[in-house]
Amino acid sequence: LSDKLQNTLGKLKGKGKVSEKDVDEAMREVKLALLEADVNFKVVKNFVKTVKERSIGSEVMESLTPGQQVIKIVNEELTNLMGTSEVKLNFAKQGPTVILMCGLQGAGKTTTVGKLAKKLKKEGKRPLIVACDVYRPAAIKQLEVVSQQVEVPFFQMGDKISPVDISKAALEHAKKNGNNVVIIDTAGRLHIDEGLMEELKEIKASTNPDDTLLVLDAMTGQDAVNVAQHFDQDLSITGVILTKLDGDARGGAALSIRAVTDKPIKFITMGEKMDQLEVFHPDRMASRILGMGDVLSLIERAQSSVDEKKARELEEKLRSQSFTFDDFLDQLEQMKKMGPISELMGMIPGVNKQALKGFDESGSEKAMKQMEAIIRSMTVKERANPDIIDNSRRKRIAQGSGTQLVEVNRLIKQFKDLRKMMKQFGNFGKGKKRRKMKL
Ligand code: GDP
Ligand code: MG
Repeated sequence: LSDKLQNTLGKLKGKGKVSEKDVDEAMREVKLALLEADVNFKVVKNFVKTVKERSIGSEVMESLTPGQQVIKIVNEELTNLMGTSEVKLNFAKQGPTVILMCGLQGAGKTTTVGKLAKKLKKEGKRPLIVACDVYRPAAIKQLEVVSQQVEVPFFQMGDKISPVDISKAALEHAKKNGNNVVIIDTAGRLHIDEGLMEELKEIKASTNPDDTLLVLDAMTGQDAVNVAQHFDQDLSITGVILTKLDGDARGGAALSIRAVTDKPIKFITMGEKMDQLEVFHPDRMASRILGMGDVLSLIERAQSSVDEKKARELEEKLRSQSFTFDDFLDQLEQMKKMGPISELMGMIPGVNKQALKGFDESGSEKAMKQMEAIIRSMTVKERANPDIIDNSRRKRIAQGSGTQLVEVNRLIKQFKDLRKMMKQFGNFGKGKKRRKMKL
């Protein structure tokens, strides 16, 4: 598939805007990729529509083909669909936090209870693991072994008492023993059935969980989505844990689950070991679902060259003397993301790195904060026209920003030097050939 896609993408290089034809061509491949990854058909259909609307007429980033541009949008929309950022567990403000685990048999509930307990313990919580699967003879024992593995206290009352009563008793036990998180393992069935749902509803009603987490096997693909829909309708889940992603499932279920239930995936599990639980990252899942790793890394590289383009725009401003302290402030903001200004300036063709020495020294975060404070203490007029900043203004700025006069002076001098240097450079650039500038 990837080869085919590369071909399609390759053909389209060098256009200014994404056309409908570009989108259709790229989306044919995307559609296949999504269906192959087990994304629900309806979800794919809607998704394609959204991407199409956003893509047609959009500007193609430099060094990308229109097809790649479409994939970029696909990737962003996929990530958006799954929630853009991680969703944390809900913790009770008072009393022990209750986490109710539910799902079909074999989905990975019991194993995941152990993993979650281990994680919470590591974070300083005092979890209690509760055995409410009283139907399979070995279930209680299995959970006990898991709890020993992760060294977390275990609560059980055998298999003669109803899960509702066990869970109530477990809550009392937790309060008495200072356990601030109670994780309840429940029984699963091979298929959704009324009896199971009724029991889960009762447990839920009597323990009032802060999280009702549905454990779903990613390998079951489309089925997982149906299961999610059912459980959510009956039990109103608060999140999903997607298991067995160490297998070859592409994880399309993740996308469908979110689209169909609008409930977040909170964790994924990547193996049978107790530390193989991870926070769910929508962006990583998006790449996995698309299965276009090489195209995506290409897009990433293009993104970083956009930052270079910004640097070039900055160069223009500097040369035309329209560079102001507001631009400078913008640059400081950028730098927080991009690294030291010397590096940024270093991207400008022809700039001698030696000349940036003054900026190098100020590269530390503290100095940056100080610069920012100084600029923020300037008035709009001062920022736009630094030449009006006389001595008394400098004193006021120093006071306002909690800095020393020398520091204000230094920043203004740096700023002017930079401008001067760029002006010289600008004159140079007007010559026949652009030569490397020596300062
Ligand atoms: P339950 O019936 O929902 O309680 O499921 P279990 O916790 O008993 O797990 C069923 C099987 O799936 C066990 O063999 C687990 O070791 C296995 N399992 C659970 N999570 C994962 C996972 O993330 N990756 C893999 N490969 N196996 C898993
Ligand atoms: Mg179990």
